Amino acid sequence: MDLNLKGRVALVTGSGSGIGRDTVFKLAEEGCRIVVSDINAENARETAALLARAGHEAMAVTADVTVEKEVERLAAAAQDFGGVDILVNNAGIVKDGYLTKMSEQAWDSVVDIILKGAFLCSRALLPGMMQKQWGRVINISSRSVFGNPGQTNYSAGKAGLIGFTRALAQEQGKFGVTVNAVAPGFIMTPGMMNLPHFPKLKEAAIAKNPVGFLGEPRDVSNVVAFLASEAARYISGTTIYVTGGRYSS
Ligand code: NAP
Repeated sequence: MDLNLKGRVALVTGSGSGIGRDTVFKLAEEGCRIVVSDINAENARETAALLARAGHEAMAVTADVTVEKEVERLAAAAQDFGGVDILVNNAGIVKDGYLTKMSEQAWDSVVDIILKGAFLCSRALLPGMMQKQWGRVINISSRSVFGNPGQTNYSAGKAGLIGFTRALAQEQGKFGVTVNAVAPGFIMTPGMMNLPHFPKLKEAAIAKNPVGFLGEPRDVSNVVAFLASEAARYISGTTIYVTGGRYSS
């Protein structure tokens, strides 16, 4: 299927590594020009350099999605690059722990990156899309919305992101902008695979997974690219689960 994304500009937050990095590659392969954005300057630059080496047009901007001024600077740089058509709110972190032992910092930082990050980036980039009467906002949520023990902060943030998606979709439809979420299950990112206990983690996750294997970043980025495309023009306010059929913990 031709996704008809040639010439669109896509900005993916947290695209210096993992799912975000694969998403910018997938979107670039579909013809998009790319704004790589990450809090990690080195990883952002490396991703943009890898894209350029593969023949794609890309720029890198270092920005913390929770800081209004940095997001405004990111939006200004993206505007100079041609304005953003597709925003993927992907940046996210985990700081796990049982609630009774969770610090305020662990709560605030996780929820802020997920929710305030999506709010600030969407607020900064939507006016350009509304002006063009075409745009896509795709929010990366998580299977954890069904509740993962040790992840009250992360589960709350990711569930909040689904509410954010539904409300923003209602606001933006008339401007030709769709807003959707993608909720991955266990995805084998390089960061995940480098964990010392990865083999044990993998074994346990496979045992719980109906399809009997774990996802890869491309399983997520394929769905993001579809939602970004013209083929998905009648889909808005929804969440697509990319979990191999696993929902509960
Ligand atoms: P990742 O490899 O850690 O990538 C996340 C990127 O976001 C990192 O480059 C990180 O930089 C960056 N980042 C962190 N804080 C930021 C901030 N304040 N502003 C801008 N960028 C920031 O994680 P991933 O596994 O690819 O996950 C990507 C998204 O998918 C996240 O939202 C995650 O919650 C979601 N997800 C992942 C899985 C999975 O199994 N991997 C499952 C469900 C949902 P640093 O490396 O410097 O921190």
